[in-house]
Amino acid sequence: MDNLKQNTTRINRRIAEAALRSGRTFDDIMLVAVSKTVDMAAVEKAHQLGIENFGENRTREIVLKQQGLPEVKWHFIGHLQTNKVKEIIGKTSLIHSLDRWRLAEEINKASRALEEQTDVLLQVNISGEEQKYGLEPGAVKDFLADAGQLKRIRIKGFMTMAPLEAETDEIRSIFKEMYRIRQTMSELGFKHCDLKYLSMGMSQDYEIAIEEGANIIRIGSSLFNT
Ligand SMILES: *Cc1c(COP(=O)(O)O)cnc(C)c1O
Repeated sequence: MDNLKQNTTRINRRIAEAALRSGRTFDDIMLVAVSKTVDMAAVEKAHQLGIENFGENRTREIVLKQQGLPEVKWHFIGHLQTNKVKEIIGKTSLIHSLDRWRLAEEINKASRALEEQTDVLLQVNISGEEQKYGLEPGAVKDFLADAGQLKRIRIKGFMTMAPLEAETDEIRSIFKEMYRIRQTMSELGFKHCDLKYLSMGMSQDYEIAIEEGANIIRIGSSLFNT
């Protein structure tokens, strides 16, 4: 934990450098600090260091931490069960893991009940690994078209993950493909969604992700030393 300040400084510098390599600046990239393995004290310390966005992958944990620190933005990044949706509606800044139609309906319904609008990203399984969640790339277009019916959901872009063990070239090609899909879908001009975010890149691969167009990165272990 003593290293949190140094880690933040190092990561911010690398974000800035990677952003420049992709023709952007530090301010174009949102860092989501993935706090799933750390306690509130660490979250508060990170907040004091200027971090404004935090990510959690369990509903119970995000609810507790959001209550503890409601003034920052909370991102839900994990697999979301339909029966847990109600717990988190109104408490998230962005849900990164919309991966199936049934879940979209449930988020829409729960949001309507609470008179909320919920911002989400579509999780896409570019790598095709069986154990990964996410829509198949070929299903994205129809999903976006149909999502116009769900008035309480705003689709803000896409999230993807590269395989943990992949080589740099493979990781890069997955991020490139996600970027390409975003461009194609943006050009189709679905009126009900503004596909501005690409959430890709974690501790091991965030610089590659930024080089390939990510504007949200999700970093846990290299920030909190876990
Ligand atoms: C845990 C997690 C992260 C952070 O991973 P690190 O390798 O610790 O940076 C990012 N995204 C998702 C979806 C995660 O579950």
